[in-house]
Amino acid sequence: MIGMDAVFLCTSDISGKLRGKAVPGSAANPGLIRWIGWTPTNVQITCFDDIAPSPYGALGDLVLEAGEGDPHVCVRDQDFAADLAIGRLLELDGTPWCCCTRNILETALFRLKRCSGLQLRGAFEQEFHFCGGPQIAGEGFSLRGFRRERAFCEAVLGVLTRAGIQPASILREYGPDQFEVTLEPATGDSIAHQAVLVRELVSAVADWQDRQVTFAPLISPGGMGNGVHIHLSLLDRNGRPCSHDPEGRHGMSRATGAFIAGILRHLPSILCLLAPSVVSYERLSPHRWSAAYNNLGRQDREASVRLAPVRMTDETDPADQFNFEIRACDAAASPYLALAAIVHAGADGIESGMTPPEPTREDLSLLAADELEARGIRRLPESLAAALDEFEADGTVRSWFRAPFPQLYLDHKRTEIDSLAGRSPKAICGAYQSAY
Ligand code: GLU
Ligand code: MG
Repeated sequence: MIGMDAVFLCTSDISGKLRGKAVPGSAANPGLIRWIGWTPTNVQITCFDDIAPSPYGALGDLVLEAGEGDPHVCVRDQDFAADLAIGRLLELDGTPWCCCTRNILETALFRLKRCSGLQLRGAFEQEFHFCGGPQIAGEGFSLRGFRRERAFCEAVLGVLTRAGIQPASILREYGPDQFEVTLEPATGDSIAHQAVLVRELVSAVADWQDRQVTFAPLISPGGMGNGVHIHLSLLDRNGRPCSHDPEGRHGMSRATGAFIAGILRHLPSILCLLAPSVVSYERLSPHRWSAAYNNLGRQDREASVRLAPVRMTDETDPADQFNFEIRACDAAASPYLALAAIVHAGADGIESGMTPPEPTREDLSLLAADELEARGIRRLPESLAAALDEFEADGTVRSWFRAPFPQLYLDHKRTEIDSLAGRSPKAICGAYQSAY
């Protein structure tokens, strides 16, 4: 064997991709501090590898560093290898770089802790499709559909477990060739680390088995969407679950209600960070079991925030089970940026003492605009361009991020939109399918 081990040192960027460089060694030795040089303008590489306008141009240098405590994976078995560490982007003097997605999430989590003493617990559930699959109908959730991909699913469960990630389930979703992986909850920034690693490890298993998978939000016009649903709950200073209050409205503690109210209030303006592709917005339309309005739902899969069920006969304390699910997100989003936006919005709800609306129970697409307005419900932006405009126009939301991040993000995403101009809906779906 003439090869030697290489570990991929990387950053999870605005487009939700891991980019970096390989260096000799292995993440099996995470105590070692490793670093590489990084170029600030790399932040403007879109998911299609165009470079959006950058305030840095060809200038500047950053350090991408990973060491003890940074998320890392080393799974090697015969010809399978996943060896990587997700680092931080630092200025040359060691200060965190303002556009490092990990830093942006940490700032949001710090705000939550400062205003409430609370920590976040949660997990992403992520859907994906096999590309060019057999497109067999009638196998949604079926044993036969699962059996067809048993080897793949079991490899994913094994690789995740060896990477230190605890899978909760892997399932044959409803859409043709569609699957989903769910995880046991993690806390704080590990919620996002795990989401990033799941995408990478599912793709690594696919490459290893000469398959192709995609987490793209929409595979074909009119087709089934791939959602990313984020389940969250709150922990108190002592790490005890505190989202549930049996006396509270719909079982929500006061902090949970305020956190959810903040998310719903700001959802239209932060949507471009949760659903940041051109094809995300067909998924976010009514009757697609995603999210089309800024509504709260109770066990309702058409709500952008859904109170998840609590199994009363389970041995687990309801307080430990209670969680809410944000359904508007997809895998074109950086898990760090999506979670940061959600946490800022939730923290704003807590700081301002907001109260959540009543859960909706009906088909909102049938209600007249004035009725929706009277109930404080809004249709979410219907295109990426409209979502970016809402973010740009909302000074409060923009102030949660350090300059130049907001402008840089707008330029990044508008370049992505421009690069697709003139292409057919089918070609646009194809482009995202390859990118994600
Ligand atoms: N595929 C749906 C989405 O785009 C979600 C289906 C479900 O798991 O409820 O979010
Ligand atoms: Mg699902």
